[in-house]
Amino acid sequence: MPEQWRNRQRLFGTCLLRSRLMSSQHVVVAGGGAAGLFAAIACAEAAPETAITVLEKGPQFLSKVRISGGGRCNVTHACFDAREFAAHYPRGGQALIGPLERFQASDTVAWFESHGVRLKTESDGRMFPVTDSSQTIVDCLLRAAEAAGVKLTQNCGLESVTNSNALPR
Ligand SMILES: Cc1cc2nc3c(=O)[nH]c(=O)nc-3n(C[C@H](O)[C@H](O)[C@H](O)COP(=O)(O)OP(=O)(O)OC[C@H]3O[C@@H](n4cnc5c(N)ncnc54)[C@H](O)[C@@H]3O)c2cc1C
Repeated sequence: MPEQWRNRQRLFGTCLLRSRLMSSQHVVVAGGGAAGLFAAIACAEAAPETAITVLEKGPQFLSKVRISGGGRCNVTHACFDAREFAAHYPRGGQALIGPLERFQASDTVAWFESHGVRLKTESDGRMFPVTDSSQTIVDCLLRAAEAAGVKLTQNCGLESVTNSNALPR
């Protein structure tokens, strides 16, 4: 499985904590990178009544996105067939087919457009924001998180995880 996907799976899956906050649910996402922010926004948009917090151990959210693609952020690739897209991953491509059939490059393009960011395609298929600046992507994700009511807390690393089923009710 590619490292990038393993990271996303870790952040989307294992590090998603569900705890009880009074009578409502509280979702805590560990890590304020691209995966954590996007997961938190998706969660908040799907369940507006749920409190969502992203904990980032560093001083800044989306620090890798800022430097990605040489400062331009290669957001996705113009390949709109899930199987063909997955085939470009030398290891773990098979595991990507299911997730990509649910959310693939065209969904990424549509998501950013619906949040005010237009992408362009270069001759080799790589897709970047038309501004050629990763800051556009950083601003978009931070704005979307804020609009969805996601609470962002930096300088706060997750140190341990407790199974909420084991907590007294
Ligand atoms: C130089 C460079 C250029 C790249 N260019 C591109 C590109 O153009 N396009 C592309 O798709 N990908 C690119 N990548 C890959 C890029 O890193 C990933 O696409 C993306 O940043 C991964 O996001 P992530 O959220 O999975 O991980 P990360 O960005 O690594 O985010 C994880 C976050 O979790 C935080 N964290 C870790 N442990 C804890 C904890 N216990 N508690 C709280 N927070 C924690 C970390 O501080 C970090 O902020 C590039 C990578 C590099 C290094």
